[in-house]
Amino acid sequence: MAEALPLVLLAEQFARLPGIGMKTAQRLSYFVMSMSDEDVREFADAIINAHEKVGLCSVCQNLTDKEVCPICDDVRRDHSIICVVDGPKDVSAFERTKEYNGVYHVLHGLISPIDNITPDSLKIKELLQRIQQGGVEEVIMATNPTVEGEATAMYISRLLRPLGVKVTRLAFGLPVGANLEYADEVTLYKALENRNEM
Ligand SMILES: [Zn+2]
Repeated sequence: MAEALPLVLLAEQFARLPGIGMKTAQRLSYFVMSMSDEDVREFADAIINAHEKVGLCSVCQNLTDKEVCPICDDVRRDHSIICVVDGPKDVSAFERTKEYNGVYHVLHGLISPIDNITPDSLKIKELLQRIQQGGVEEVIMATNPTVEGEATAMYISRLLRPLGVKVTRLAFGLPVGANLEYADEVTLYKALENRNEM
């Protein structure tokens, strides 16, 4: 092999990242060689630091460097409405609409038997605990309009019904199979505004 082994190993690490093919990984590893020692150290430290310091909010399970995230900690937000989403990126998508004033619950995945993702591997238990603590009036199921998203919404709504909480689902002007993360603010806001009871 013509390339120095450390460079190959670095490219392999980049290639593990989502959306990075081997060609791009190689280009990135060459780029690292052109960086200053200081910049490289800063880059590596940022990765280690983020991974070490960021964990899950003890309430909503979103990523945060605090025990309780700023949204859960905000008294101006309506804590009686919980918007249930697949991942942290969906929280960002709803926050961009600037229209939603409730709080969130992040599942960290959707039920998918093919991929071996069972309800137990998601943060569903934590959601039930939150609701059992009281004060929650509505749970908005805001999972993606995919097979997994629908199945997860159905599964959770069945668990929630006996707890006497209103369960709603986003009204999808969003196309089936769409990803919330990529929906524009207006579409997402409309889906939220026109939500239906499940
Ligand atoms: Zn939180």
